[in-house]
Amino acid sequence: MYRRIFTALSLSFVMVVGLFGLSLSLQERAAAVSQDGTNADWSPTKRYPSHEVYFPGTEELGPEEMRVIACGSGMPMPRVKQAAACFLIELGNGDKFIFDVGTGAFTTLYALGMPLDYMTKIFLSHQHADHMGDLPTFWIYGMQNGRSKPLDVWGPGGGGMPESWGTKSAVDGILKFYNWMLETSKGALDTRSLSINVHEFDWSKVNNVIYDENGVVIRTIPAIHLEGSVSFILEWKGMKLAFSGDTLANRWWTEHAKGADIAIHESFLPNDYFVTRYKFQPGEAIYVSTLVHTTAEVFGKIMALTEPKHAVAYHFQNDPDTLPAVVTAVRLNYDGPVDFAVDGMVWNVTKAGVRTRVAVLNTQPYPPPSVVERQQTAPGGEKYETPEWIMQGYAWETLPVMDKVHEDFNKKFGTDFKFPLKPKE
Ligand SMILES: [Zn+2]
Ligand SMILES: [Zn+2]
Repeated sequence: MYRRIFTALSLSFVMVVGLFGLSLSLQERAAAVSQDGTNADWSPTKRYPSHEVYFPGTEELGPEEMRVIACGSGMPMPRVKQAAACFLIELGNGDKFIFDVGTGAFTTLYALGMPLDYMTKIFLSHQHADHMGDLPTFWIYGMQNGRSKPLDVWGPGGGGMPESWGTKSAVDGILKFYNWMLETSKGALDTRSLSINVHEFDWSKVNNVIYDENGVVIRTIPAIHLEGSVSFILEWKGMKLAFSGDTLANRWWTEHAKGADIAIHESFLPNDYFVTRYKFQPGEAIYVSTLVHTTAEVFGKIMALTEPKHAVAYHFQNDPDTLPAVVTAVRLNYDGPVDFAVDGMVWNVTKAGVRTRVAVLNTQPYPPPSVVERQQTAPGGEKYETPEWIMQGYAWETLPVMDKVHEDFNKKFGTDFKFPLKPKE
């Protein structure tokens, strides 16, 4: 009974402190009230001194600070408020990593308004669409959105799997899928970003270093999720972030993620919702929730064993009516700090602890600024031309309108463009 009350209190403490911020301590707030009883920090005309949310692009990262943003906290079932799995990790040394880029996640990444040249390192835990489904979109839209660099993609392969199941083969498929778009864009848009460097690693190795640069080490452990799935452990400046991808309760996780500063682990929707909401057969529901994924009860036990400084549960539809069931199930076995992720949830991680907030996402963003000047030249100077016969289908009556469009544009930008089409005699 006492334990239950303590658990409920600690949860509400975590949520209140987490969501409503630590920017001013209670003492600081009290001190800010001047003698006439008004709060000296606040003004009807100046900007507010503190916000309890995160406005992307407005806060510097400290040299030993890590910021993690949930850009997808959901499931394979698409919804506006939750994309599928995706976490952006930003480090105080300027490095940025994307762990999984599930369906719908690009929209959220883009809403952060960050130059895409800063988001080129993508790590895939496995090849389910809810973990890599937005990779093709993220890659191909680079050219319209100011990315000048190719993507680097780390993903599983080998370990006894057929070669055609590996990340290299999947990426070849993406390049093929968009071959028409790639070829017909040459010389018209900035296509320097349109290649992918694949770093395929052996998924079956335990605590395998797959990345070691600039003081950042990323290791993988096998995940128990069909085959060819991994979890990631990132270490930097003596801090540790563990990210599970999809997995059953996993002894490599409890060993290597132990004591992590932040441990992000799947906690699948309770199995009865698969029957009642998603109309799964009971056999399907129990299979996905107990043989492929970690249920909330098991998530709690895993965190009790892992003892992270801060736990994050994701991979469920986080709604007012599902959340209590998930929280109750997690709390059966775990009473440590935990957040139940929604899209846009942000964690600032330092050795002193973790601060949780939610980002205000821009729902109508324009391209984030380019880091380098955009250019029209394709690599090798290749240029695509539309066949003459189809261009001759042009409605020539609109030529005067087009001339005016060019005239106005040239006036505005000091250029000298002319519409190149003419009817063939
Ligand atoms: Zn999966
Ligand atoms: Zn998944």
